[in-house]
Amino acid sequence: MVATYSRPTPIFTKAQGVHLYDLENRKYIDFTAGIAVTALGHSDAEFLRILNDQSRTLIHTSNLYHNPWTGSLSKLLVEKTKESGGMHDASRAFICNSGSEANEAALKFARKVGKIVGAQKNNLNKYEVVSFHNSFHGRTMGSLSATPNPKYQEPFSPLVPGFSYGNLNDQKALDLITENTCGVIIEPIQGEGGIHTATSEFLVSLRKKCNEVSAVLIYDEIQCGMGRTGKLWAHSYHPKEAHPDILTTAKALGNGFPVGATIVTEEVSSKIVVGDHGTTFGGNPLASRLGHYVLGRLSDPALLSHVNEMSKVFKGKLKQMQKRWPGVFVEIRGKGLILGVQLDRDPTALVKAARERGLLVITAGKNTVRLVPALVIEEKVVEEGLKILEDAVEAWLAQGVET
Ligand code: PLP
Repeated sequence: MVATYSRPTPIFTKAQGVHLYDLENRKYIDFTAGIAVTALGHSDAEFLRILNDQSRTLIHTSNLYHNPWTGSLSKLLVEKTKESGGMHDASRAFICNSGSEANEAALKFARKVGKIVGAQKNNLNKYEVVSFHNSFHGRTMGSLSATPNPKYQEPFSPLVPGFSYGNLNDQKALDLITENTCGVIIEPIQGEGGIHTATSEFLVSLRKKCNEVSAVLIYDEIQCGMGRTGKLWAHSYHPKEAHPDILTTAKALGNGFPVGATIVTEEVSSKIVVGDHGTTFGGNPLASRLGHYVLGRLSDPALLSHVNEMSKVFKGKLKQMQKRWPGVFVEIRGKGLILGVQLDRDPTALVKAARERGLLVITAGKNTVRLVPALVIEEKVVEEGLKILEDAVEAWLAQGVET
């Protein structure tokens, strides 16, 4: 394997629900859900039944031909998005295999729109893109160019030209959006960057500025979407005046099976023609049928209200821990089950201490512990996991270990 990852020692061999098991059959509570992916938990029975059934029926045909599921998934994405109070003029979807690809499609679509609109406006060079510090949009050249983290970008420079970066929730960022801008891409809640939420006010002003210069507004809900906040989309909490032209999703859409989607308005879609974009695997019947099932489950109001209930349990307990260690627990952030605990020091040793006690958590941003468990997690397991976290914090602080 190319050494792109540093992995701890456990080798995971199986999983059930919100638990993972290693080679020695040690059981771990999984508060990572494969980085906000396995929202229905591991080995969901109906997911497995569909996987089996569709594998025997039809896995792949390529996009040369129609199949029953790519269209069905696209239609359901549009319907559920509108039903959730999000993106009111969602119209069509492009189905792909991952988050980076969903964003790559979004950026290409924005470029195409910019080309057409620019030509109508005295041949304006309308190709620039604005994104935000602490964002993460992926590792392909386009999505990486929108991800202003020197650690990820510098080894691969020069990047795609025309990208500039503002600060989240800072009105000064609006100045970066000009007549030359074709698109603005933003996570309504930044995941990798440390669980930072864009305000309604900021998103409304981005929308307004995008309208003024005819730029496309793209919401990357790859991590914060699919029910994770207690609504189908994080932006479903915001008014219509903050809705995007393009919405990207992946991660939880396949509950572990690779699938992503780029949802667009009719206005955007009308500018994309045959041959503009494509993918061999994207939208294959197996991934699409699984996505269709997962989306149905994750948009269920009962499940979404469960997410909000579990969020209260998490926040209540985390706030108790903050009272116990006020200097160390700086802030509890997030919504639903995308939560960040801002610590005053490097949590690497804490993550290890938790893992050694049977709990998996991940970090984000700067000194943030990120909690993104399965959305079906039950209260008993949340409490059990948080008890392990508390024990781990105790041991971590007693050691006085900072790294
Ligand atoms: N966008 C966001 C917000 C993400 O969190 C991620 C992955 O962490 C991506 C894009 C990239 O997705 P993928 O790793 O599936 O390419």
